[in-house]
Amino acid sequence: MSDSEKARGPAASDDAGAHRGRRSFLKAGLGTVIAAGAATGILAPLRHLRARTGLDTLLQDHYTRLDAESLALILRRIEEETARDYGVKVTVRDPKPGDGVVFGHALNLSLCNGSRKCVSACVKENNQSRDPEIQYIRVLEMAQGSFNLEESNHHYDDERVPQEGKFYFPVQCQQCEKPPCTKVCPVTATWLEPDGITVVDYDWCIGCRYCMAACPYEARRFNWSWPVLSKYDINPDMGYLSNRIRPRGVVEKCHFCLHRTREGKFPACMEACPTGARIYGNLLDPESEISLILRTKRVYVLKEEAGTIPRFFYYTDA
Ligand code: SF4
Ligand code: SF4
Repeated sequence: MSDSEKARGPAASDDAGAHRGRRSFLKAGLGTVIAAGAATGILAPLRHLRARTGLDTLLQDHYTRLDAESLALILRRIEEETARDYGVKVTVRDPKPGDGVVFGHALNLSLCNGSRKCVSACVKENNQSRDPEIQYIRVLEMAQGSFNLEESNHHYDDERVPQEGKFYFPVQCQQCEKPPCTKVCPVTATWLEPDGITVVDYDWCIGCRYCMAACPYEARRFNWSWPVLSKYDINPDMGYLSNRIRPRGVVEKCHFCLHRTREGKFPACMEACPTGARIYGNLLDPESEISLILRTKRVYVLKEEAGTIPRFFYYTDA
């Protein structure tokens, strides 16, 4: 195990151990996989791989094997590319997981009023494409007394919220303890970090979308086109594994705002929530607010039967 793998903790090193290189996947397996996928068109996004990657990116090693010097060069390269492509000066950092920290998120359904302030704050914070707008959070509107995800509506366009007779149920990446999405990735472009956050290396992802099919929560999004972002919309404080602008042809998702939360701040969705419905913190700290919620409330996890062990919890005031 390399030093960098040790530093990433057991989850990352397990993944890195099982890692099959993206380049070897492309070289050895691409013909077979394309043949298999051609009938369904599932691998169509691979066509964009060459177009989106410069030689530096293509020759880049897997994130978990990068030494500090190589990583620093990559971060500077992304800053330069962003300045060139979007005309804005940004800083790309790589905050690491802290010792003794596993993050969790709790949401009080009694307080959620369906305003979707969390959705727009997330889009802004994480430099999501605006056209079409990519959203990590879906707020599902359902009839009170029912709980049918299939019949829920997250495209509601009510003039006022909350609507009488409705309740609201926000869903995003559940940061599963046993994430099926990482298991199916053929090139280990997505993995579970020691602090409980599942990340994607956008420079390693080949856009096959297997992870999207594996996620029981529809939490992943695919960039069908280059992100459309005005320089005035860009959040210049970026993380390599989080909110840097993603290329076309890769998958992205909520990462608990790790460029903020690993430095002691709250996620953008939580700060924007007008009702205080969201709680975020360290599950390993018995004094944290989220630990208190888990001790004192009857919490619910979504699709428990899937065996994913979410670190996203729902509760009510009842
Ligand atoms: Fe992966 Fe989906 Fe779980 Fe998020 S919610 S960790 S994307 S399986
Ligand atoms: Fe891995 Fe998902 Fe990217 Fe495919 S689309 S390479 S499964 S992260």
